[in-house]
Amino acid sequence: MSKPSSATIDTPRTATNAPKHTELPNVIVPAKIEWQTDDAGNKVPVSGEFGDVYFSHADGLAESRHVFLTHNQLPERLVNLAAKQCFTIAELGFGTGLNFLATWQLWCQLRANHPHLATARLHFITTEKHPVPLNDLTQILTLWAQRAPELAILIEQLLASYPPLIAGCHRLNFIEDNVTLDIWLGDAGDSLASLDSEAVIQRPYIDAWFLDGFAPFCNGTLWADAIFTQMQRLSRAGTTVATYSCAGIVKRGLQAHGFEINKVKGFGRKHEMLTAVMIEPLQRDNHIPALSKQLTLSKALSHTVVIGTGVAGLLTAWTLANRGISVTILDKVAPLAGASGNPRALLAPNMTPIHHVYEHLHSIGYLYSGRLYRYFNEQAAIQKTPRILEQTGTLDLLVKTNIGTEQIADYPNAMATTISTEQAHDISGLKRKDLANNLYLPQSGLVNPQALKTIILAHPNIIYQQLNVTNIKETEEEITVTGCESDKNGQQAALTITADHVVICAAYESHQLDKRIVECRTIRGQLSWFSPTADQITKLPQLPLKYSGYCAPFIGQSGDAELNNIIENQQQFLLGASFVDGDANIDIRLEDNQQNYDKLMEDLPELSRVLPNDISTWQARAGIRTQTIDYHPLVGLLAQSKRLWTLSAMGAKGYALAPICAEALADKMLGCFTPLSGVMLARLSPNRARLHKVHNNVRNKVSEQ
Ligand code: SAM
Repeated sequence: MSKPSSATIDTPRTATNAPKHTELPNVIVPAKIEWQTDDAGNKVPVSGEFGDVYFSHADGLAESRHVFLTHNQLPERLVNLAAKQCFTIAELGFGTGLNFLATWQLWCQLRANHPHLATARLHFITTEKHPVPLNDLTQILTLWAQRAPELAILIEQLLASYPPLIAGCHRLNFIEDNVTLDIWLGDAGDSLASLDSEAVIQRPYIDAWFLDGFAPFCNGTLWADAIFTQMQRLSRAGTTVATYSCAGIVKRGLQAHGFEINKVKGFGRKHEMLTAVMIEPLQRDNHIPALSKQLTLSKALSHTVVIGTGVAGLLTAWTLANRGISVTILDKVAPLAGASGNPRALLAPNMTPIHHVYEHLHSIGYLYSGRLYRYFNEQAAIQKTPRILEQTGTLDLLVKTNIGTEQIADYPNAMATTISTEQAHDISGLKRKDLANNLYLPQSGLVNPQALKTIILAHPNIIYQQLNVTNIKETEEEITVTGCESDKNGQQAALTITADHVVICAAYESHQLDKRIVECRTIRGQLSWFSPTADQITKLPQLPLKYSGYCAPFIGQSGDAELNNIIENQQQFLLGASFVDGDANIDIRLEDNQQNYDKLMEDLPELSRVLPNDISTWQARAGIRTQTIDYHPLVGLLAQSKRLWTLSAMGAKGYALAPICAEALADKMLGCFTPLSGVMLARLSPNRARLHKVHNNVRNKVSEQ
């Protein structure tokens, strides 16, 4: 927040001479932090770009609480939330995260004293154009942890989850506290415009705004008409605003966009600050349910059936269960019986040039999955079950990629980098291969599907039921799923389950459950693995490698044998994966193992001495990947339905895409803001015109023949 009257501040530069750097659209330029000393002798950060302070030189935390928390009436409003209700705050200017930390701490305090808040949720959406680099943020917040020990534990968690500074939305879930932080990196105007407020079941709204850009005279961008227009779009009657600034441009902007303003006493020596409340919301479409109807709907969201226990179904079930919804998850065979049940899955993104990353589902999904799987690792440690993600790092030899080292250099090193040839040889164990061109992904690694399944199915809100679904029937009031259940003796019995919503996550079989889901491409993929000798272990690659295929060493864990022929504690080496388009057969084929072997030898011939061409003892598993013709998954409500959804068609990238897609799906069901933009959601919609048009053309051609 800006305190231009403080005696210790240099005169801010004018808007015309800042910022200085060349800016490319959608490419993040991190903040340049400078340091000053505040009134009490504390070191405080100042923006090098804007020449303004991040928070008050008097007492930043006290001012944050006064301006944003008290004057949005947060203590009273948060206490009055109903069970499972979500309160949404939007902030302009995340900066050091101090406002967020103060809000989060208030929320924890209230939850500790008001048990009815146990299932309520705080959603904090923030925007930032020049994010503070992690090392500066660590320095800034370590000082706050000393000055305000009540923030220390929250600061530690925020720093541990702080994302690499690439454009787009980074969702950070602080699961134990029911807090979701969406950090939209990029210009606030673009980020607010990206927020999807379309009503599917309910329309999402911002409940309170924190306007915390720098002072209007040194940064006009956060006080522009386009920002106020977005604020009006995203607010409803009763939405509040608080800001320290009483500048005319702010008052006029708010008044012109439906807010009634009020000047109140400012913090400390400041005479005044501004509050506002929305009194004239935009006229919304007629089909939007009235408020009382919306509340009934959100109460009605108490039971969801998820069909399919591959990675899409498991993550959908967990995400809904985590929002307090009871979930019955069904599978006609068993959990992870299909393509998601490989021994290990490589969590590594398809990279894109940095100026495309803003709308790149793979990058945002990869980062979110990593955060979620690290949280699951903590749960696994408590439950003494195997880890979900082994964060080994992955070395990509750039054999089959559309990105080169120059483009990799645009990424923050924490996400993607090129390491030296020596380092690459060192960590991989390869001796001869020219590794000068490489992509090293430090946060990448191997996911253990069986361990993930164990954690997810242990959630108290999730029940697994074996059922071969034969019919889904939707009415105004409910939706029923009917199918055949097999008992231990193989006897079949009919079973009908009633729910408020159903999500079809049945990969290529989704189309068979509802014809509104387009029929997808089926791509057969066979993964191979074997148990290497002690000598081979030392000579085979020491971490996951990507070339025209991929390979990785791993150690069998307890539970692996449930899905695959793998012995606990035994070293294994896997190679993937064959690719046969239009084939939905999952028989094990020698020629597919040979293909996996050949790819490795072609790209890394030096390994022929370590791994002779004897694949007779190799194990394998074949699965069917499902893909749409435009390669985007299917995520959303089916056409003309109010209760039937799908999340499917993630190709070979389910472990990277399912967690973020499941978040978006849960948000749409619950009437919350999603971490995916409106444009992205339209791209993923199961009803997108392009898919159906192409599909119908293909069908017509076939029937003409
Ligand atoms: N809320 C912050 C805190 O708790 O530390 C302080 C915010 S600081 C006063 C203002 C922030 O707005 C800076 O971090 C700045 O980079 C950011 N900012 C400035 N112009 C922006 C724009 N057009 N879009 C998004 N963020 C912007």
